Amino acid sequence: MFLKNNSIWIEGIPNNKYPRLNKNIDVDVLIIGGGITGVSTAYHLINSKQKVCLVERNKIGLGISSKTTGKLTYLQDLMYSKITKKHSIEVAKEYLNAQKDAIKLVSKIVKNRNIDCNLTKQKSFLFASNEEEVSKVKHEQELLTYMKENVNVEKLPINLKSNYAISVSNTYYFHPVKYVKTLAKICSENNIEIYEESNVKNLVKDGNSYKCYINDNLVKAKKVILACHYPFFVFPFLFPIKGHLERSYIGAANVANNNDISGINTSKNSKSFRYHTDGKNNYFIYLTGSHNLAFKFNLKNNFNNLLKEMNLLKIMPKYIWSNIDIITNDYLPYIGYIDENLLIGTGYNTWGMTNGSIAGKILSDIVMKKNNKYIKLFNPLRDSSSICSVSEDIFSSAKPFIENKIIKNKPFYSNRVLFTKKDGKNIAIYIDDENKRHIVYNRCPHLKCSLIFNEVEKTWDCPCHASRFDIDGNVIEGPSTYNISYKKDN
Ligand SMILES: Cc1cc2nc3c(=O)[nH]c(=O)nc-3n(C[C@H](O)[C@H](O)[C@H](O)COP(=O)(O)OP(=O)(O)OC[C@H]3O[C@@H](n4cnc5c(N)ncnc54)[C@H](O)[C@@H]3O)c2cc1C
Repeated sequence: MFLKNNSIWIEGIPNNKYPRLNKNIDVDVLIIGGGITGVSTAYHLINSKQKVCLVERNKIGLGISSKTTGKLTYLQDLMYSKITKKHSIEVAKEYLNAQKDAIKLVSKIVKNRNIDCNLTKQKSFLFASNEEEVSKVKHEQELLTYMKENVNVEKLPINLKSNYAISVSNTYYFHPVKYVKTLAKICSENNIEIYEESNVKNLVKDGNSYKCYINDNLVKAKKVILACHYPFFVFPFLFPIKGHLERSYIGAANVANNNDISGINTSKNSKSFRYHTDGKNNYFIYLTGSHNLAFKFNLKNNFNNLLKEMNLLKIMPKYIWSNIDIITNDYLPYIGYIDENLLIGTGYNTWGMTNGSIAGKILSDIVMKKNNKYIKLFNPLRDSSSICSVSEDIFSSAKPFIENKIIKNKPFYSNRVLFTKKDGKNIAIYIDDENKRHIVYNRCPHLKCSLIFNEVEKTWDCPCHASRFDIDGNVIEGPSTYNISYKKDN
């Protein structure tokens, strides 16, 4: 069977094309980013009577949102234990309500708009993979019961090691790309201007509005909503000290049956699974190897571990890919104002299908000056003592920066990858199967970190803040707004 080094959600989906921005425009609201956050925000602004424009640097829906496992659940590993520890049980309860409201919101939109996105009701499991983890699952169960949720204790119905498992109902999963792309289509049919291949390179405050430099054009916006996952600037808000990045590895394999269940365990190196059916085939989607981005550079090894684990389960993946998300210091997302007329929606702790959806509603309500009961909960400017962990996150950023400067050619690379100097500049070379050389500058334009090469997905990755470039240096993910293609005019 042919192994595809990309996400199952990208396969065979219709690609509505939107134009590239090639003129100067004035808008009331500029949304930067066409993932679940940006598109959901645009959707809720359809009847706002404001001139709204959404710009996406690549293609709508093909960022982080295209690599998720697509679960819409409120059983989110040990989230309620973590939030209770950082804040209180009352805050955990509010977070739980937000997740349940997000699930209702998506289900309602899918039903009302008749969106074909494989939305399926399913049971979510949380399980302990060893004896030490049992008490953690039991604690999460106690918190959920205290918050008046119906939690069942039952055996995990699939062949994964489980010492104790709980489940909840009324949760769903879906096809994230079909959902985001259809929502974008509805927006564009309802007077929201959408532009693809339109990269915001710079944002400058101009009185109480913003000047935005996109491609070679100027967009003047009264309000800007950052829905771009990791912000591309450091000031205001100092994002690099407000959280760290976590990467995981995912495989999808053909299986005979579809059980309509999903699950996640509680170990640091999480394991998570779900089923998916596309009408013809059933798939088992399996995730493993979650780790802080700063601590594991050998990506090939991480993919090998994924393959080994899937082998043990006696399944062979047809697709493999990796994904990354932002883990905030207090486990609550950042949704709302970060400066005058500048809003953000990000920091979803790997639960952005629900949080990105509710962010769309909150951000649009803020813009339309409507009340929303979750504004205070997710306020990015909340008490900074709970959200700043300067030492931990500066260390996470500095470690790969220093380590990569010292160790250039890592022993785990094949001889197709080379880091060297040319004309006094640090460059990196990848020689492909046809012996073609792909050369890039070995320096992330965001905060100048040296890069690592992902030999499985064939990308240059920044180990500091997760900018990702294709083999020819075009930026495809992360905070960098510049390419690193050698000799091209950046
Ligand atoms: C392994 C893994 C599994 C996950 N599984 C789940 C799950 O089952 N359920 C769940 O709820 N969540 C899950 N998540 C989390 C979820 O995938 C993310 O939180 C969510 O997709 C983030 O959406 P977003 O809109 O913020 O980002 P994105 O989807 O990345 O959208 C941001 C967009 O902004 C664009 N952009 C960036 N910079 C610029 C710029 N300068 N100019 C113009 N455009 C720009 C990007 O190209 C991108 O398209 C998972 C995360 C991981 C890592």
